[in-house]
Amino acid sequence: MPEGDTILRAARRIDAALVGKPLVEIEAPHPRHALDRWRARLEGRAVRAVDTHGKHLFIRFEGDLTLHSHLRMTGAWGIYRRGERWRRSPRRAWLVLRTADHEVVQFDGPVLELMTDSRTRFDRRLAALGPDVLADELDERGFLARLRADDRTRGLGDALLDQRTLAGVGNAWKSEGCFLAAVDPWRRLGEVSDEEALAVVREIRPLMRASAEGERHAERWVFERAGRPCRRCGTPIRARGQGDDNRTTYWCPRCQA
Ligand SMILES: [Zn+2]
Repeated sequence: MPEGDTILRAARRIDAALVGKPLVEIEAPHPRHALDRWRARLEGRAVRAVDTHGKHLFIRFEGDLTLHSHLRMTGAWGIYRRGERWRRSPRRAWLVLRTADHEVVQFDGPVLELMTDSRTRFDRRLAALGPDVLADELDERGFLARLRADDRTRGLGDALLDQRTLAGVGNAWKSEGCFLAAVDPWRRLGEVSDEEALAVVREIRPLMRASAEGERHAERWVFERAGRPCRRCGTPIRARGQGDDNRTTYWCPRCQA
């Protein structure tokens, strides 16, 4: 699943491709959007800005209209020079924005909606999002307040995936952060100190921000390394589904004891 860093990186590339460049064509080929009249509503409008909050991406047009996207598990953004071959089938394209030089494509996008700017501010789901882990300055107090309002018996690893507590973290960075901060992801929130919770976030923020800048991250410490030796202590990495969604958590039982 794309996490916040992947979305922010896509947003920067979409921004470079679209902002200040006249759109020559808009297509929304998926039948679900056949009646949405996007082409008519967006025709002739320039893209003002592209921004993100956690895993949500917003393409803001002139005239108070914004396309809101969330890729969930399956979606992807493609940014191509005109004539370049797409990495997914055109049949899977839900949205194509064309300029003279570029094609910006959303593939397999389960959440794609055109809304007014004001609705992006008041929409209940969006307003409920926690502080953005990728923000220039993290709202640490906001994060902690939300974490402390959560169920005290919830495991830390599961709680970190809750986008209402902290927006942008997914399964990979959650596991990596708990390892780097040497905190057991199975500990209940009631047994995790503020400093420990902040330590996890402070470990992953610079890595996620570097990744958003296009830097390739170093090899993973624990994520998807079940059964392989810990890079620090040699103990086999463990993996088990955690939380209501049963997302797999990876951890070193020795370094994170
Ligand atoms: Zn270890």
